[in-house]
Amino acid sequence: MPIQSKLPAVGTTIFTVMSALATEHGAINLSQGFPDYPCDADLLGALGEAAQQGFNQYAPMAGLPALRQAIAAKLLAQHSISVHPDVEITVTAGATQALFTAIATVLHAGDEAILLDPSYDSYAPSILAQGGRPVHIPLYAPDFAVDWSRVEAAVTPRTRLILINNPNNPATSIFSPEDLDALAAIAERHDLLVLADEVYEHLVYDGQSHQSVLAHPALRARSFAVYSFGKTFHATGWKVGYCVAPRELTAEFRKIHQFLVFAVNTPAQHALAAHLTKPDTWQGLPEFFQKKRDLLAPGLQAAGFRLLPSQGTYFQLAEYSALRPDLDDVAFARWLTIEYGVASIPVSAFYQAPPTQKIVRFCFAKQETTLLAASERLAKLRA
Ligand code: GLN
Repeated sequence: MPIQSKLPAVGTTIFTVMSALATEHGAINLSQGFPDYPCDADLLGALGEAAQQGFNQYAPMAGLPALRQAIAAKLLAQHSISVHPDVEITVTAGATQALFTAIATVLHAGDEAILLDPSYDSYAPSILAQGGRPVHIPLYAPDFAVDWSRVEAAVTPRTRLILINNPNNPATSIFSPEDLDALAAIAERHDLLVLADEVYEHLVYDGQSHQSVLAHPALRARSFAVYSFGKTFHATGWKVGYCVAPRELTAEFRKIHQFLVFAVNTPAQHALAAHLTKPDTWQGLPEFFQKKRDLLAPGLQAAGFRLLPSQGTYFQLAEYSALRPDLDDVAFARWLTIEYGVASIPVSAFYQAPPTQKIVRFCFAKQETTLLAASERLAKLRA
C-alpha cells in the first residue's frame, strides 16, 4: 500500500547512525548523549521495590500524585515558585513526548513555530507532523548568541510558538536574564506561546546559573517548560519526564497526552517520587559534570582540536580544521570513528541550512576511564 509520507525528508536520526557506527567499529561512543555509568543504587532499589509491591498497573493519566507533588516541591526549592501539582504538572514518557505533545496542543495546520538552529532533532519533525511550518533562525559559533531582533522579524500572523532549548544541545550555550526578557517582550507583543526545553537545567558550569522560564513571571504565564529525569538522574532509558504549564495550557496538553500515551510507567514514577524527595539528589550535578568536562578537554586540545566554551549540557564542541580541513563534519565524524575509534556527532545535523563550520560534538557524560581512554586514542591524531 503506498503511503504519502508526512516526513519525506526524515531519515534515521544522527544519534542512531553514529552509535551504530561506533558499535560496528568498536569505537568509544562519545556521540549519542547518555551516561555509561550506573544510576544511583537507591533509585534502582526503589524501582525494584515498587514493582515487587505490586505497582504494576496504569498510573493516573497526569502522573502519580506523589511524583507531581515532589516535582512541585523541587520547583519551590529551586526557583521559589509555586506550581500546582494537580493542574500544572503532567508526567510524560520522556521530554520527547512532552515536546511532541506541547507542539500538537498548540499548532493547527499551517501555523508557524520559530526554532533557533542548531536545534534538537525532534523539534522540526514534530512541527511538520502537525502540518505546521518550522521557521529556522540560525545561530553561529562560537557563542551562538541570539539576535532577538531577527527572531522578532521572523514573526508573521501565522506564528504561534517559539521553541527554545536552554542550556542548548548541541551549542552548549546558556541564556542570560536579558535573553529571557527579550524573548518575553516578543512573546507578549505578538501573543505567542513559548516551548522551553530545559532538560539540561542542572548542567550549567563555572558558577553560572540556569535562567528558567518558570522563574520569569511573564514567560511562566505563556510557557510549556519540559524536563527529563533521564538527564537529571542519569537514566536516559527510563524515558520519564514532565511538562509544567499554566492551568489552561495544561488542560489542553492533557487532552493530547491522554490519547498519545494515557499514562507513564508506574514503578518508575514511584521510584522517582521516592528519590526526588531525598536530600541532595540533584544539587551536586554541576560539579559532577564540570569535572568530566575538564577531564576530556585537555585530551581534545592535545589532539589538535580547538575547543568552544561549554557553558552547559554534557557536551563539548570541538573545531577540527587544524586536523582535517578537507572534510565536512559528517565525513570527519565518520573518519574519526573508523580510523581513531572515537565517535562524535557532526553539528550540521542540527541545522536546516548548515553554515560552513567544522565542528563536532563530544559527550562527556562518561566514566573517567572512558574519557581518558578516548583521550589516549585521540592522541594518535598528533603522532
Ligand atoms: N539527546 C541525545 C543526544 O543529543 C540523544 C537522544 C536520542 O538518541 N534520541 O545525543
